[in-house]
Amino acid sequence: MASDLLIVGGGPAGYDAALAAAKRGISTTLLEKEHLGGSCLNWGCIPTKFLLAAVAPKAELEGQEKMKTGSGQVFVDLPALVDRKKRHLEATRKAMAAELTKLGVEFIHGELKMIGAARSVIEVDGEPKTIDHKRCILATGSRPAWHPGLKADHDCVLNSGDILGLREVPKHLLVVGAGFIGLELAQFFSRAGSKITLVEVAPRLAPSEDEEISKALAQGFKRMGWDMHVGVTISKLESVDGQASLSLGDGRVLTADKCLLAVGRLPNSRNLMLEMLGAEVKGTAGWIHTDEHLLATPTVYAVGDVNGRTLLAHAAAHQGEWAVRHFAGEEKTPYEPGPIPGCMYGAPETMRVGLMQADALAKGMDVTVSRSQLVANPIAQAHGATGGLVKCVWSEGKLVGVTAVGHGVASLATLSTVMVSQGWTRKQCGEMIFPHPTLDEALRSALLNPAA
Ligand SMILES: Cc1cc2nc3c(=O)[nH]c(=O)nc-3n(C[C@H](O)[C@H](O)[C@H](O)COP(=O)(O)OP(=O)(O)OC[C@H]3O[C@@H](n4cnc5c(N)ncnc54)[C@H](O)[C@@H]3O)c2cc1C
Repeated sequence: MASDLLIVGGGPAGYDAALAAAKRGISTTLLEKEHLGGSCLNWGCIPTKFLLAAVAPKAELEGQEKMKTGSGQVFVDLPALVDRKKRHLEATRKAMAAELTKLGVEFIHGELKMIGAARSVIEVDGEPKTIDHKRCILATGSRPAWHPGLKADHDCVLNSGDILGLREVPKHLLVVGAGFIGLELAQFFSRAGSKITLVEVAPRLAPSEDEEISKALAQGFKRMGWDMHVGVTISKLESVDGQASLSLGDGRVLTADKCLLAVGRLPNSRNLMLEMLGAEVKGTAGWIHTDEHLLATPTVYAVGDVNGRTLLAHAAAHQGEWAVRHFAGEEKTPYEPGPIPGCMYGAPETMRVGLMQADALAKGMDVTVSRSQLVANPIAQAHGATGGLVKCVWSEGKLVGVTAVGHGVASLATLSTVMVSQGWTRKQCGEMIFPHPTLDEALRSALLNPAA
């Protein structure tokens, strides 16, 4: 077998790279050991949004009930939802495979066993085979992280992939890890009827977000009745007599029907013999170090989650496409993606792009911030979802970051990304016409309110 480009991994990074390569007439093989779509389609972005969409009417009703303008019940049929999600994922994978065929990409269902500079060993249907290539794009992604004493046993202690297959809503769900994966899934199960106990070792929820965002999230989840334990140490997590049992460092034991372990991700970088080509595989986790051209070795790019730069699907796809353009000789300068937006979905949502206040201060920048509260926004008012804020970070008269928390704020991500990437001034922001009434006007107010 031979191809100019061997792409390993059919997630957003590898799949988008394959499309970009085929469109340029590059002879391309895409190797995927499991499912096209990778974590994003099968166990990540898409299935979680199916779940959150099913409880969105419940969140809307909460607002109307708060205003005493409506009441009712929303019943989530979890088995029907899981079946619908399964059918949707299958159909999407089929459409993706058809697109590869249409564009002339050689798709192989198999596993990379050993990567070489120009010849790699793969396994197809249990048989080893070799494939020659000029370059390889490794896009092998990531998997749920675990730590000693803190590991999914797939019985009562589940990872994010396991929990998406549950057909029964647990009465009581323990969630360990308050990053965006833990918080999105906790929101779904909370609105589907689970009592939520949330445990986070960092001193606050969503520890990589701005502190004001974390605080607003904690207030919102408290109102939803969650029992939250932050800044704790954990000594053991296991299934005991059909229950998840979590022992905290202070001697307390928390039990629940199920536990979601959402403590980060680990790269799929081991056992590929990449180090033999001179690549640097970092730390015990094994993130693949890449240079300014996303190269791990002179002939191997490493893109997407596996290089640990940004664990988001759109960042992965962007890197995959860029690596192809670099291989095709279209990119002459280092990889500079610009500000990458990131969102947590649900109700509330969060969004961020660019530098947060603490990051900018840590870089020694001269920083001011301006804010607006969603309570003053007519759309948030109409939905009875007035908790939250938009916060803008400025340096030397230019917008360097935006973050927000509250009802529907993920919709502010694209406009904020344009403004931050172009370093808009307050004058430019003031000159733009925002439609009325929209949530975007909360962004406008934050941009135009006095900065301090
Ligand atoms: C619950 C959850 C929710 C998420 N929600 C969002 C979201 O809303 N928005 C967002 O931007 N991101 C989200 N993410 C993150 C997003 O899924 C990842 O950033 C994205 O999937 C990374 O893409 P990738 O192509 O690098 O890797 P992956 O999607 O992980 O794909 C890698 C592929 O490589 C294959 N592979 C691995 N090793 C081999 C091998 N040796 N041989 C052949 N194939 C191999 C794997 O089977 C896999 O299909 C979420 C993640 C999770 C877990």
